[in-house]
Amino acid sequence: MANIILLGPPGAGKGTQAKRLEDARGMVQLSTGDMLRAARTSGTEMGRKVAAVLDSGGLVTDEIVIGLIEERLAQTGHGGFIFDGFPRTLKQADALGALLARKGLALDAVIELVVDDAALVGRIVKRAEDARAAGQPVRKDDTPEVFQVRLQEYYKNTAPLIGYYWAKGDLVQLDGMADMQAVAEAIAKVLDKA
Ligand code: AMP
Repeated sequence: MANIILLGPPGAGKGTQAKRLEDARGMVQLSTGDMLRAARTSGTEMGRKVAAVLDSGGLVTDEIVIGLIEERLAQTGHGGFIFDGFPRTLKQADALGALLARKGLALDAVIELVVDDAALVGRIVKRAEDARAAGQPVRKDDTPEVFQVRLQEYYKNTAPLIGYYWAKGDLVQLDGMADMQAVAEAIAKVLDKA
């Protein structure tokens, strides 16, 4: 089964598409953001360490997130992974390459959801409003202020991965501003070819 990375700024729709792929294809979403939020509420030492970073919109250290992914890959070995929100730095990208190679797994595609930055803050605010209306927990970092920091982190640390994966021949760019269903169909086409 294919292993893919979903790349794109916060609010691009990576999580939404990853969940759809889990339902539609039985793939496994590996979201470092979800893992870090879970660690935070579980009251572990690591959770305490990362809480302030999560709230600020900054990036958690490479060591921590690489460790989380390594642990998860060791538990679920069969592949069909959707890396969502990881890698976010070049160091993480190299580490992922090494981890997959060690397991004999390939990276089949890196799918960039290309979005209009100006629209993102609106999506983030809507995500918070929808969660509130549904009585679900609202992410503390889904505010316009913290979003600014997250977007800056994206351009500073994560956007270089676009060139990196393009040069490796792995990058596929899709229109992330299309509606959810159209994006899902475009991803499905990529996977069917992989
Ligand atoms: P996300 O749910 O992907 O938006 O991630 C939420 C927050 O978790 C980010 O703003 C970072 O603080 C942290 N985080 C998630 N994934 C990573 C990663 N790969 N590297 C560093 N920090 C991360």
